[in-house]
Amino acid sequence: MKPVYAHVDRAACIACGLCQMLAPKLFDYDSEGIASYHPDGNTGTKPVDPADLIDLKIAFRRCPTGAIQHSEQPFNDQQK
Ligand code: SF4
Repeated sequence: MKPVYAHVDRAACIACGLCQMLAPKLFDYDSEGIASYHPDGNTGTKPVDPADLIDLKIAFRRCPTGAIQHSEQPFNDQQK
């Protein structure tokens, strides 16, 4: 299985809280409710634990703005 990396485009997040409700282990929020991918500090550089892939995909599909991203390649740190 290829590694999967995840990242939240924080500029696209509207702080709806849905991803934290669906996948509390994977998403965290700042004081304004803007989400980030918690396991690697939203750098998108650490492969998602295979056990968490289903929760990631559920949150990805339900995010109303498409702010949750995933890729088989690591995300560039400058996208934080
Ligand atoms: S579901 Fe999307 S818009 Fe809502 S808090 Fe999570 S990343 Fe932000």
